[in-house]
Amino acid sequence: MSSVLHRNLRESLPVAVRGAGIYLFDRAGKKYLDASGGAAVSSLGHGHPGVAAAVHRQMQALEFAHTSFFSSQPAEELAARLIALAPQGFGRGRVAFFSGGSEAVEGAIKLARQFHVEAGQSQRTRFIARRMSYHGNTLGALALSGHPGRRAVYEPMLMPAAFVSPCHPYRYQGTNESADAYADRLAGELDQEIEVLGPETVAAFIVEPVVGATLGAVTPVGRYLARVREICNRHGVLLIADEIMCGMGRCGDFFVSEQEAIVPDLITVAKGLGGGYQPIAGVLVQERVAEAIARGSGQLAHGHTYMAHPVACAAALAVIDYIRGNDLLANVKRQGQLLEQRLRDAFGSQRFVGDIRGRGLLWALELVRDRQTKEPFPQECQLAGHIKSRALEYGLVCYPSSGTVDGRLGDHVLLAPPFTIDEAQIDELIAKLSSTLGVEVNAASRSGRWDERR
Ligand code: PLP
Repeated sequence: MSSVLHRNLRESLPVAVRGAGIYLFDRAGKKYLDASGGAAVSSLGHGHPGVAAAVHRQMQALEFAHTSFFSSQPAEELAARLIALAPQGFGRGRVAFFSGGSEAVEGAIKLARQFHVEAGQSQRTRFIARRMSYHGNTLGALALSGHPGRRAVYEPMLMPAAFVSPCHPYRYQGTNESADAYADRLAGELDQEIEVLGPETVAAFIVEPVVGATLGAVTPVGRYLARVREICNRHGVLLIADEIMCGMGRCGDFFVSEQEAIVPDLITVAKGLGGGYQPIAGVLVQERVAEAIARGSGQLAHGHTYMAHPVACAAALAVIDYIRGNDLLANVKRQGQLLEQRLRDAFGSQRFVGDIRGRGLLWALELVRDRQTKEPFPQECQLAGHIKSRALEYGLVCYPSSGTVDGRLGDHVLLAPPFTIDEAQIDELIAKLSSTLGVEVNAASRSGRWDERR
């Protein structure tokens, strides 16, 4: 029996021992096509010799120096690189480095609060997020995550937060409503929520520009984010863009905020930043926010032992340099178009696929029992869980999730393959996904209840 407290205490997982490109291998020698980069982490794929060498070099030169006493060369270079890549208008901002996405979101929450305190507005304590969002599992990040299933156990312990609607055209845009009218309606809802809370009490609004894990690759409509930026500006509310899943090249550019022509006050990044080679995350802090703290107390009120770890920063630098040096974002765009085309060809007319959506190399299929009514499969089918196991059996790692509709009902499959994927590998991915869905969805449709068909 394993002594590891796994996420699922009842299932027995294959043991991964090796990775090469877009493939993983387990102890028994079985090969898996990693179509989701774990959870949109492995941007360069596995076993990249250049990143491994950079990590090794840094380990030999300097493994650790506490950030209370020293800076390090990789941290300085990485921060400068990220600020140079940040959306136009970000100014001479700064970056705080952390060890994972949830830590970065905690950092962003605290930086937003500290900014207002330093600016003499200490009454700003409230945060607004969106329903069905996910920003992490630590208590602060979870408090801003609007996914009922993920919050359930901890609900009584979470700090209060306000929630507005996600921008989710497949389910909520009216049939006769234009994209602009829908964007304006949502912006109006945010504006109204700020008014109800009292604009002088609101610290920040947090948004995932492309929603990843909870809704499945939902992209914003037209001017939605631009309107959100306007409203936050009008009320002195900071805008936090959580690009932990969708950023760092996953959607075809380093930042989705840049694609959407908005300049957030804070941007969180993780996952693809280190590409899985080291645990690393960051909060990019716009110049005016960093300056307010520099002019005020001059001290971060928040910190961790492993902030800006030199080895983690060296890995992230190597990942970014490889992406830029090899023009991998062009491949993300090219292969992203091909992946979309292949998904539409294979699943576009399948009765159980309600929606195919995404951007760059972040795509999802939303699975429904009835395409017309968009009715999801019953929860008892446990469709997402069974797709995950079946896919593994067929040598495919994808990222199916349940609760897509309301945190309880609904299922989708998220795909986020490495940026290095080629055409033949996309075909292999589609073939394996087709076989998996063919078996699992048909079985669920026939019985309606998983247990009954065993
Ligand atoms: N924010 C977003 C948008 C995420 O997708 C995730 C993880 O999936 C997180 C935050 C939390 O990151 P981590 O799991 O590294 O703590």
